[in-house]
Amino acid sequence: MASMNHPSAIQKLSPQVIGKIAAGEVIERPASVVKELVENSLDAAARLITVEIGRGGLDLIRVSDDGGGIAPDELPLAFERHATSKLLTEHDLERVATLGFRGEALPSIAAVAEIEIASRPANAASGALLRLREGEVVEQGEKGIAAGTIIAVRGLFRRQPARLKFLRSPAAEAAQIAGVVSHYALAYPEVRFVLLVDGRLTLQTPGNADLRDAAAGVYGHQVAQALLALPVDAGPVDPPAVIGLVGEPGLSRANRNYITLFINRRWVRSRTLTYAVEEAYHGFLLTGRHPLAIVDIRLPAADVDVNVHPSKLEVRLRNEREVFALLQRQVRRTLTQSAPLPAVSATTWAGGARRHPPVPRFEPAPLALETALLAPAAEQPRLAPPAPVMRALGQVGMVYIVAEGPEGLYLVDQHAAHERILFERFLGTGGAAVDAQGLLEPVAVEIAPRQQALLTEMAQELSEQGFSLEPFGEGTYLVRSVPAVLKDKDVATTLVEFLDALAREEAAADRRQRVAMSLACHAAIRAGQSLSQEEMRELLRQLEQTENPRHCPHGRPTMIHMSADALAREFRRR
Ligand code: ADP
Ligand code: MG
Repeated sequence: MASMNHPSAIQKLSPQVIGKIAAGEVIERPASVVKELVENSLDAAARLITVEIGRGGLDLIRVSDDGGGIAPDELPLAFERHATSKLLTEHDLERVATLGFRGEALPSIAAVAEIEIASRPANAASGALLRLREGEVVEQGEKGIAAGTIIAVRGLFRRQPARLKFLRSPAAEAAQIAGVVSHYALAYPEVRFVLLVDGRLTLQTPGNADLRDAAAGVYGHQVAQALLALPVDAGPVDPPAVIGLVGEPGLSRANRNYITLFINRRWVRSRTLTYAVEEAYHGFLLTGRHPLAIVDIRLPAADVDVNVHPSKLEVRLRNEREVFALLQRQVRRTLTQSAPLPAVSATTWAGGARRHPPVPRFEPAPLALETALLAPAAEQPRLAPPAPVMRALGQVGMVYIVAEGPEGLYLVDQHAAHERILFERFLGTGGAAVDAQGLLEPVAVEIAPRQQALLTEMAQELSEQGFSLEPFGEGTYLVRSVPAVLKDKDVATTLVEFLDALAREEAAADRRQRVAMSLACHAAIRAGQSLSQEEMRELLRQLEQTENPRHCPHGRPTMIHMSADALAREFRRR
C-alpha cells in the first residue's frame, strides 16, 4: 500500500493544505532521522534498505535503498519545506496511503545536520548528487550509482547543543534506532532490512515476505518458532482485519515493548490497542509479564486519521471501540485455539473442548451459565457432569496438568481450574468460607478516582471477601486486611490491579459474582507457574468438588478429555 512505483513529481503544497497539516518538531533524536529516512525508502517501494549508523547516529546515519529514486532536477526541491510527491490536495489528507505526506522530513533534517544525497531513478542515465549544510545547498553534481537513493546525515545537532544535551548515550540512541528498524522490518517482511551499528551487522531480515522469518531476524529463531499466527481467511485481506503473529502463552516479556502494532502497516503507539492485546492474554500470563505480539490492523483508509501527531506515531480511529474488540477477540481466539496436542485430529477429542468450544470471556454466553448455576436449587439444571476422579501425571508447558481418569486422558488448564475452585469458594457454594488476613500494620494505598467509585459501590461485597478499607483522605485508603488468598502479595499493587480487574468484570450483573470472579482470577495460579506433584494432586481434588468443574467462571473449559476409545482409535489398536 505505501508504495509508489515510479517517482512522481515533487511539488510544493498549497498554503491551504499546509495549514491543515499537524505541525511540530519531527527530528528529536537520531532515531527520528532514521524513521523518516526509512519511511521515505519504503514509500519509494524499496526492496532492500540498509541503515548504517556511527556513534549512536551522531557521527553518521546512512540509509541506502533500491527504490524509485528522485529525478535529478527535483533533488533540490525535495529539501524545500512542504515539497512532496505524495499529496496534492487537502482531500488526499483524508486517505493517506503513504508513510510520508507532509514534505517536511528532509528539510527538517537538513536544518540540523550535514547531508549528502545521491539518487538515481531507474530510467535516468546517471545519478545526481547534492550536499547541504545548515539547509543550504553547498554542492551539486553527478554521481554514478545504482538505481535508488543513498542519503548520509553527519554531525547531527552539532550546532544545536541544547538538543545534544537531551540525548542519551550512543549505545542507548543506537538501541532506539534498532527499535525503529525492527518495527519497519516487521511491518514490511517483503523488504530486506540490514542494520550496521559501528560497522557491525546488528539486524538483518531476509525480505522474503514471510513475517515469521522477519521476526526471526528481529527477535531470533527461538522466539519466531514460539509465535502463533492470527487467523486470516485465504485470499486478499479485506479491512477491517487483524493479521500477524502473537506469542504462545509460554512466551512472555517483562515490559510492553514487545507488543508492536501497525495500522495499515504504519507503526503506531496506542495505549488502548496495546491494552486490547494484553487483555487477550488475561489468565495466560503471570501478573507483571507481558506478551510479545506483532499485529497489523487493516482498516479502510478513510477510518484512520494519521494527521494528528507530528511524527505520525499516534493516529485517530473512527471506530476505536470496534477495533479494540476485534483485536482482542482475534488474539484471544488464537490463544484459546492453540491446541496443546495438534497432532491429534480434532474429531477424536471427546469432552470439554469439542462439546464446549472455547468461549472468549467477553461473550455473554458463559455468564448466562453462571447465572443458571446460582439459580435456586430446584430449577437449577445440572450443567456439567461432575468431574471425573483424576490422577495427576505431570505438567505440560507449565500451563496444563496431564491426568489419567477412569475414561482416559485429561488435560487440565491449571489457571482455569483454580479460578473455578476459588470462585465457588468465594461465593460460598463450594466449601470453606473466605477468611481475612489482618495486616500487622495498615497499608496506605492511593486509589484513582474511578476506582474509588468502585470501592464505594462494592463496599459490602469487598468486606464480605475479607477486605477492610478505610478512606484516609485525598484519595488514599488504609488497608487493614485482605482476603487470605492475597496475603503473600504486595498489598498496594494487588489492590489496584484487583480493582482494575473488577472494573472489567462488568458483564456479570451480580456484584458478589463480580467480586468473586476478579478475586478468583487474581488469586489463581497462573499459566507458567510450575507445580509440584502434590500441588497438582490437590488442585484436581478440589476441582472434583466444585459444582461446575468443567468451566472457569468466564466460561473457558477447565479440561479437555480424550477417551480411552479415542486413544485406541488414534493408535489404530482397533
Ligand atoms: P514526504 O515524505 O512527506 O513527502 P520528505 O521531506 O520526507 O517528505 O521527502 C520529500 C520528497 O522527496 C518525497 O515526497 C519524495 O518524493 C522524495 N524522496 C525522499 N526520499 C526518497 C527516497 N529514498 N527515494 C525516493 N524519493 C524520495
Ligand atoms: Mg518522508
